[in-house]
Amino acid sequence: MKTPVCVFGGTFNPPHLGHVRACLDAADEIGVTKVGLMPAKVPPHKQTHGVAEQHRVAMVNLTCNTSSRLYPELIELALPEPSYTVKTLQALRDKNPEAPLIFIMGEDSWLNLTSWYQWSRLTQFCHLVILKRATQNKALAAELAELAEQQGTQSFEPLHNELSGRIYFAQTCLQPVSSTQLREWLNTNANTPYVATVGDWVSDSVLHYIKENRLYV
Ligand code: ATP
Repeated sequence: MKTPVCVFGGTFNPPHLGHVRACLDAADEIGVTKVGLMPAKVPPHKQTHGVAEQHRVAMVNLTCNTSSRLYPELIELALPEPSYTVKTLQALRDKNPEAPLIFIMGEDSWLNLTSWYQWSRLTQFCHLVILKRATQNKALAAELAELAEQQGTQSFEPLHNELSGRIYFAQTCLQPVSSTQLREWLNTNANTPYVATVGDWVSDSVLHYIKENRLYV
């Protein structure tokens, strides 16, 4: 079996160190070296807080420059619209027919999964690795409980030995930050030096890019 292809999908508006630390910790835990940060295509009518796709891509590229273990996976941006994760994963599967495919997501995404287009087909194409996330409402839909029961694995080995179909809950530390929080901090402090908390959670290069392009103000 080939080395797994592992991607972490998100809006990345902006990408933050919570994304980086959580996905790399999980990658360590499951024995994966590289993780592709995969920005989602956000349709123009959806809320991107005035930040164009090119800026999200630029910030993902800068983030990937901070670690040799990260690379930008821009496949979704090139696919025909409308964009759906299931279609993107199918395209990644077509591109990598013989490699296990791992899709990393945060626990909030997992808990919302039944609202995703054709969510029950996702694990036809990939394994899911779920990162711990501080979420207010931890209610798990019955369909997801059943899916976890049927396809959950406590060992990471099937993620390497099987192409798709497993769900693995990573035990990595909570990274208590979100892009929403960062946008608020950046906006509130638009005319003053950035508070320490922003610098704690955004890489220098991304922060520089945000300032230069006057994003989130
Ligand atoms: P927003 O606040 O705008 O919703 P976000 O911080 O949740 O953004 P996204 O780009 O939407 O970031 O998230 C991409 C993926 O990363 C999602 O699956 C999300 O659950 C996960 N994620 C985001 N932040 C964290 C974090 N701090 N720890 C673990 N997973 C995270």
